[in-house]
Order: sequence, then C-alpha cells, then structure tokens
Amino acid sequence: MLDMKRNRERMVKQQLETRGITDLAVLAAMRSVPRHLFVQEALRAQAYEDHPLPIGHGQTISQPFIVALMSQIIEPQAGLRVLEIGTGSGYQAAVLAEMGMDVYTVERIRELHAAARDLLRTLKYRKVRLKLDDGTLGWPEAAPYDRILVTAGGPEVPLPLIEQLADPGILVIPVGASKRMQELVVVRKQGGRVVRESKGGVAFVDLVGTHGWRG
Ligand code: SAH
Repeated sequence: MLDMKRNRERMVKQQLETRGITDLAVLAAMRSVPRHLFVQEALRAQAYEDHPLPIGHGQTISQPFIVALMSQIIEPQAGLRVLEIGTGSGYQAAVLAEMGMDVYTVERIRELHAAARDLLRTLKYRKVRLKLDDGTLGWPEAAPYDRILVTAGGPEVPLPLIEQLADPGILVIPVGASKRMQELVVVRKQGGRVVRESKGGVAFVDLVGTHGWRG
C-alpha cells in the first residue's frame, strides 16, 4: 500500500505537475484515488505508468495525464453536477467524485458497468450514479449538467449532450473523422451562446452509439 502511495506521488510530480496540470483540486484527487484498484490484478504494478492500460472488452483506462487534463479543462468545483460518458473502469468518475462533484456516469458494456459499480461502492464513492446505456443520448432524466465529459472518441459532438449542458456549462470530448485519432474539443455554453475550441490531438477508444460510431 505504501508503495502504491509512493507511486502515486511520483506520478503526480513527473507526469502532471511538469506538464501543466496546476489545478490543486485535480492534483489532490490524483494523489488520493487508488488507481491500481481500477486495473486488472495482473497489471497493478503498471497502474501508475505514463500510458493507458487495457481493462478488457477492447477498452482502456486512460493515461493519468489525460484523466488530469480533462478534469482540469472542465474547471472542477465541489457541488457541480457532472455527466461522464464512458465509465470504463470507473477511475475518471472516482477522480471527479473525489473533488466533491455529483457524478452521473454512463457505460454501454454491461460487464464494465457492473465492475465499476461494485468497485465504486466498495471504495465508498457515494456521489457516483451509474447507468448502463448508450451515453451519446446523454442521461436526460437528470439533466441539465454543469459539466459533461466524454472519455471515448466520436465523429461529432452528440447533439443531446449539448442540449443537456447547463448554461453556463463546459463539455469536453475527443472528436475525429477517423477512429483512434481525435482532437480534444471543448464546448462552452454561456448566455445562450455555444462556443467551440480545440485543445490538440489525443487518441481514445471509440464512442459507439446513436451519435457515435456504429458498433
Ligand atoms: N473513463 C474511463 C475510460 C474508459 S474507455 C476510465 O476512467 O476508465 C471509454 C469507455 O467508453 C469504454 O468503456 C467504452 O465501452 C465506453 N463507451 C463507448 N461508447 C459509449 C457510449 N455510447 N455510451 C457509453 N459508454 C461508451
């Protein structure tokens, strides 16, 4: 356990602080969430390395830097309602909950949804609500959301997500016309206006669904 704490500390110093992650809440959350518990047992020793790792079903847990970057881009604040599309391992959701946000997260693969639900329950992340569904449709029953974060790459920004974003609100999503290569797109809604900007190249697994790629 002590080893893992030390690994986490090193990850924050070497991968985050040196690369422009300055938000103190993000750094604190990355220091405290036990990332090694969100990967398969055989991969635990690699959990804090500077790359994504497989979590089964062809999916991955994002690289620590990407989790921190997306968390920072949404300008996190305790008490905000945040919708995440792509629960995967549940790690990103735990980081958001650790910062005191009310988290709604949607996953389309049943086994990943169930495993994340059990783990988050065991770790007592009570502010995370999970749903098994096509997240490109959002989670309309609980909308609007102050923040929306999509952790899989799609061909476009799903319209239902823009509609379910509060005003003011911030949405971040990897978007690309080709699979496996996207740009990180940030959509801000303010005063009835929707403004879009790009934050550079990333590589995520596919967003599959009605407003994503075909499965
Ligand atoms: N945030 C995750 C990253 C998981 S990878 C983590 O911290 O581990 C992206 C996830 O998005 C995969 O689990 C994939 O199954 C899921 N996904 C892809 N398309 C989806 C959709 N339309 N709705 C919900 N989840 C989707």
